[in-house]
Amino acid sequence: MLCTPKYYDDFEGLWRSTLSFLDCAYVLKGLKFCGIDCVDRERLPLLRKFCRVNGLCFELSDYKIIHQSEKSKGGFSNACSRVSIDCPCGNYAVFLSIDRIIAQLAKHYHAISDHANLGQLLGYPKCCLDFFCKHVEEASQKNMDFILYALADTKQYDFYTNKALRYFDIAIISHFPCSLNCPASISIAQKNLYFLQEEHPQIATFFEKHLKSMVIYTEDQGIFFSNDYSIKGDIVEYRDLKATVENSLFHKLKNTNQITIISHNSLIVNQELLSSNIGILLFK
Ligand SMILES: [Zn+2]
Repeated sequence: MLCTPKYYDDFEGLWRSTLSFLDCAYVLKGLKFCGIDCVDRERLPLLRKFCRVNGLCFELSDYKIIHQSEKSKGGFSNACSRVSIDCPCGNYAVFLSIDRIIAQLAKHYHAISDHANLGQLLGYPKCCLDFFCKHVEEASQKNMDFILYALADTKQYDFYTNKALRYFDIAIISHFPCSLNCPASISIAQKNLYFLQEEHPQIATFFEKHLKSMVIYTEDQGIFFSNDYSIKGDIVEYRDLKATVENSLFHKLKNTNQITIISHNSLIVNQELLSSNIGILLFK
């Protein structure tokens, strides 16, 4: 796993990841109205202290969340289930905002699974919310990832919408973009990146370097990427491949250092056609 630069200071134990920290930082900076995270009972006092020090309000869910960790995605989880608040395991969903009413509203929309209104409070663009609502039922059967629905072709896109590297704790948008050239998502990413360049330049440089990458996304065989790649026609050559899981597909990809792209969801590696639950994403 990559080691992303961290800026946790006195609150290191509070954050699950760099992205979890940044989602809260965007709220504090006024880049979004509301952020969502989860917290266990042990970290609650730290969360209270953090919010008091920074003038932030938070609301906790009246239930607990259990994440369904996926081995092929490096233990990362998009999907989760709800259990009673009395359950000894699981985390509270936490809704953070400068405005208590917004935090309360987010808690309410989350409780009734109103994705559209919750997404609006979280600052997600309308086009991406419509996209989310359109695919949510299908995605819920597949660990709630929307990347394959957003792919349309194999041209190189600007790195802003590269959401596939969140499995490596790298992304500059919090939502699934409706397409890799969604203007509203690019605009949010540019504002977030500007903030990172100003206040966390090490994270900004690290993110930008890695997001400009070739990503091979699979639903259940891992996510692979290289930020050292070149394209000649349909052939992509790469070095230094990174993976969420070092399985047989990883070793095949790493040993050949080359794939032939047939379409955005099919490729040839070492004379073998892969075209099931797979996506190729190219970012510059
Ligand atoms: Zn969009």
